[in-house]
Amino acid sequence: MTIRDILNQDKITISFEVFPPKAGLPLDSVMACTRRIAKLKPDFCSVTYGAGGGTSKNTVAIADQVQNELGLTALAHFTGIASTRETVKEKCAELKSKGIQNVLALRGDMPNEEGFVPKKDFPHASDLMAEIKSQGDFCIGGACYPEGHVESEDKHHDIKTLKIKQDAGADFLISQMFFDNNIFYNFMYRLRDAGVTLPVLPGIMPLTNYKQIAHIKRISGTNLPAQLLAIADKFHNDPMAMEQAGIVFAANQIIDLIANGIKGIHLYTMNKPQIVEGIMSNLDRIFTGSNPDA
Ligand code: FAD
Repeated sequence: MTIRDILNQDKITISFEVFPPKAGLPLDSVMACTRRIAKLKPDFCSVTYGAGGGTSKNTVAIADQVQNELGLTALAHFTGIASTRETVKEKCAELKSKGIQNVLALRGDMPNEEGFVPKKDFPHASDLMAEIKSQGDFCIGGACYPEGHVESEDKHHDIKTLKIKQDAGADFLISQMFFDNNIFYNFMYRLRDAGVTLPVLPGIMPLTNYKQIAHIKRISGTNLPAQLLAIADKFHNDPMAMEQAGIVFAANQIIDLIANGIKGIHLYTMNKPQIVEGIMSNLDRIFTGSNPDA
């Protein structure tokens, strides 16, 4: 099924993101994670793509498992930074051969790989989207950034590039993580004002250990609300309490989004099924058979 059709249904959707193992490590643990979270019946499951060498070949293998073994809809991520027109053609043929119709088309970041030279065919994600569209009837998603992409000159420019993604054939957008829902609501107003009508799935990242929070605080401009910082301060020496608090924070964030009319949630699972189960155990009634307009 295409994600376009899934998002057109009269229900609130939940989807999960998993990532392939690091280069050289076996696929088994990710396959086991995917099997476990599949029991929670997500509307679709996305699989990230390592822009450099090693891990990228596993994306299709995991997406194949999601779709053809577990019977879920798969969304395969794909990046332009490491691709030529020829590799896109090959990738599209491979996806078609597995019956995978959904692709999240990204530019990608420079991989942490010595000697890597970015390819020139697809300078922006929208260029890759147009190429994938020309390869068949794919349903295409793109990334968006409620707090602005780090390289964007300003938020206005950032929103304009999302209109370019829409015009290039994107069917939906998935957002970068954020922890303050007001930032997302403000982003949605600006997006609609700029004529971007695509469905947008907010990306929710559960923060369940102190290192993760310290890392985000250090390296990204992501706004961390006082409530999350207080949780980190209070529980940083108690990993189990930190995990519980992170699960509840993420569940509350999701409830608030849905209460404010958002119809689809994308959860970054970090390949930790117990955290996904913890969050979903608080939300089962919200996602089963719900009618957003009821
Ligand atoms: P683009 O849309 O090309 O944007 C990159 C920059 O260029 C932005 O500043 C944008 O404003 C600007 N820009 C875009 N289009 C134009 C244009 N036409 N003219 C001028 N400027 C333009 N990375 C991976 O390597 N693998 C993954 O699997 C992966 N999955 C992700 C999933 C989600 C939901 C998100 C939010 C990000 C993901 N990323 C992934 C990270 C992503 O690749 C990086 O954030 C990357 O820096 C930008 O990718 P993009 O597709 O948003 O690029």
